[in-house]
This record gives sequence, structure tokens and C-alpha cells, in this order.
Amino acid sequence: MDAPRRNAIIAFGANLGDREATIAEAAREIGDLGGTVLLSMSPLYESAAVKLDGVDLDAPEYLNAVALINTDLPPEALLAELAGIEQDHGRERHERWGDRTLDLDIIWMDGVQMETENLTIPHPRAFERSFVVVPWHDVQPTAVVAPYGAIADLAEGLRHELHRFEAVT
Ligand code: ATP
Ligand code: CA
Ligand code: CA
Repeated sequence: MDAPRRNAIIAFGANLGDREATIAEAAREIGDLGGTVLLSMSPLYESAAVKLDGVDLDAPEYLNAVALINTDLPPEALLAELAGIEQDHGRERHERWGDRTLDLDIIWMDGVQMETENLTIPHPRAFERSFVVVPWHDVQPTAVVAPYGAIADLAEGLRHELHRFEAVT
């Protein structure tokens, strides 16, 4: 039997290196994964870094975006592929929520609810993060995820925390 195809939301974050180029390349690489199609890519947003003790205005700012994809990869396989793309872009892991060239999180997969040591879907911290819900609303404006509610409502409440990134050309 064919593996089930599901839509999913992937969040991108980068605050080191050429943030814009890294996110663009990672989006292309996700679309090139076996059995995976990149359906829609949000605009880029910029926001202050958040560390374990709160907003860090001394750290480089983040660029964030969200992609809507369709894939037949099972959740664990998708996570492994995303980790490989992070590695290819020089991701280093030091302290939790430390500065990074690329972070790729699985935010939501249609019909998937799971919690293992390595993978929780939906991503439990996504729904309070402006840099996830605002671009998510851009690519999937009618999304509703129990028990969190309508993404449109969450985005409305958090929109003031970030701004659209305009590249300097
Ligand atoms: P946060 O999860 O709060 O956004 P982070 O992205 O900085 O923090 P990482 O260091 O990138 O955290 O990842 C730590 C681990 O989180 C990963 O090794 C992965 O196994 C696990 N993880 C659990 N659920 C998910 C998910 N939905 N998407 C991506 N990674 C996840
Ligand atoms: Ca993250
Ligand atoms: Ca992550």
C-alpha cells in the first residue's frame, strides 16, 4: 500500500550567517526530498532572539518563515531529513535556544498527534510564538488546530511582536 500523503507545516528560523539565503536554500531542499512537494512558502519575518531567560536584544535577530508541504514521509523520517538539512547548513548545538544558522521544526502534520522522546506533533510551543503563527496564517489562513483554535485568531493576537523582512537590494 502507498504511504499516506499528508500536508504539514515546517517552521524555519535562522539568526547566524546569510539568513535569507539559508532559508531559501533549505526550502528548495525540502521540496526536493523524496515524496515531498513544497506547496507554499510564507514571506520572511524578523524578530528578536529569545533565550532561556527571555528576549536577548544583544543576540542577532532571527529571520523566520513557514512552509506548507505535502509529503508521504512518516514523521520520524521527515524529522531525520530536516536534521540533515540543518547539518548541511552548519547547525551547531551548544546551549538550548542558542544562536543558529538554521532551525527546522515540524509544527503540524495533518491527522498526526504524537509524543515520543524525539518528536512531539503538533509542536507544543509553536502556538504562542508569533514567528510561527503569523507566517503559518499566511500559507494556511483557515487552519484550526485543537485545542489551540484558529490560527487566524492566534496570529491576530501576536502580530505586533514581529515585522516583515524587506531585503536590501
Ligand atoms: P524548540 O523545540 O523550543 O523550538 P529548538 O528548536 O531550539 O527548541 P532543537 O535543539 O532544535 O530545539 O531540537 C531539540 C530536539 O527537539 C530535536 O533533536 C528533536 O528530536 C526534538 N523535537 C521534538 N519535537 C519536534 C518537532 N515537532 N520538530 C522538530 N524537532 C522536535
Ligand atoms: Ca525551534
Ligand atoms: Ca528545532
